[in-house]
Amino acid sequence: MVSKKRQPLIAWLTLIAIAALPLTTTAQTQIKYHSNRFSVQDDVKLGRQAAQEAEQQFPLLNDEQVRGFVESVGRRLVNAIPQQFQHPEFNYYFKVVNARDINAFALPGGPMYVNRGMIEAAKTEGEMAGVMAHELSHVALRHGTAQATKSQKYGTLAAIAGIAGAIVTRNPGVGQLAQAPFAVYLLKFSREYETEADVLGAQIMARAGYDPRDLANMFRTLEQQGGGGGGFLSDHPSPSDRYVRIDREAQMLRVESANVQRDSRDFARIQERLHGYPRAPTMAEIAQNGQRYPVGESTSYPNSVPTGRVEYPSSRYQSVSIFGNGVQVSVPSNWRQLNESNSVWFVPEGGYGQVNGQPVFTHGVNFGVAQTNSRNLQQATNELINSLAQGNSSLRTSGGYQRTTISGRQGLWTSLSNVNEATGRPENIKLITAQLRNGQLFYMIAVAPQSERNFESAFQNVLRSLRIND
Ligand SMILES: [Zn+2]
Repeated sequence: MVSKKRQPLIAWLTLIAIAALPLTTTAQTQIKYHSNRFSVQDDVKLGRQAAQEAEQQFPLLNDEQVRGFVESVGRRLVNAIPQQFQHPEFNYYFKVVNARDINAFALPGGPMYVNRGMIEAAKTEGEMAGVMAHELSHVALRHGTAQATKSQKYGTLAAIAGIAGAIVTRNPGVGQLAQAPFAVYLLKFSREYETEADVLGAQIMARAGYDPRDLANMFRTLEQQGGGGGGFLSDHPSPSDRYVRIDREAQMLRVESANVQRDSRDFARIQERLHGYPRAPTMAEIAQNGQRYPVGESTSYPNSVPTGRVEYPSSRYQSVSIFGNGVQVSVPSNWRQLNESNSVWFVPEGGYGQVNGQPVFTHGVNFGVAQTNSRNLQQATNELINSLAQGNSSLRTSGGYQRTTISGRQGLWTSLSNVNEATGRPENIKLITAQLRNGQLFYMIAVAPQSERNFESAFQNVLRSLRIND
């Protein structure tokens, strides 16, 4: 049952590589650490905590090609961090947030989050790398804990957990985010720290084989895209000051030429791929809606009708986190996870396939979140059933609603019947719904052929294990 639209296929774009790097001198500005009462391990610990929270609040883009590309740029920059600012304890990693604002932030100890809007706005790979190099510099220089040391605000470690630098944003609404939970991640650094991150960022760029002036160019791009007014930008050194400063540093740097000739088609391909996704929400919209569920690449399905021959659900269960840790659930260990663009399936082998380009399922559970007009649980559930019935004409409710409890909150249990469009066999569907705090409707759909009762106890176990952290 349940067919869903797939992402459109991506058209590939070709661009011409640009290389203009006549840089010769080797002097460069010396940068030193600021005093810091925290240990390097504290940076790691704080960053890890903050990353967990960030991932509950930001919708990640689950697209391994895009993330992998950002990671490859990030690795190249990390490897170019000067020796004295390298920390073997740090664990740099890179994730993409499905948000429109042109922004990126990094947390102490290494986690970095790059907004999709930033990747889309950058004119070149170098411009994107520039923002990342700036953010990496805050991390390498341990600016978060240095600032906490200076401002004497250290009480508990958790109180300063959200220490990061957001380099740039064109969203004037960021000021409003001060009350939003993740405002803490957008903590501002002093101008001195910002300048240091620009300077070290330029040095890292050059060492990695990028033109450091691309970091400066990104400020131009930003201004062109409507930045400049209000909000975060106004609290920072003006983009033109930063441009001048970075450009001056760039003249002192020698670009490592080994990797300079990089194929710009890779970056064009990633941008084109992103254009194929629905419009990303802004941070302000994310804050308002409490949206924090990942969207992105669908799993690919075998191009065949499901066999319907499946193993019994294993009596061993494994615990998994889905929706950016928003939901935890235990599922039989012989089921596999399949990500759709807005929902997640757990299915046994043989219980899924593809018919006429649409994924179809005969056995398994599906978790998702729906936007409904009603805040009344039963009415919202009816809206969901109606939308499911549009893609499944044989879907019928069979029996009324039963109240149940899901992760400590009120839930509804609805039984439905259907005829599977792929196999033609009658199937039972359980729909379990509950409201999230932001008003959206969380649902679990469990499906199995009517003749196979052995799945029911597995469904019950899955439901009992469900934990929603909203
Ligand atoms: Zn910064």
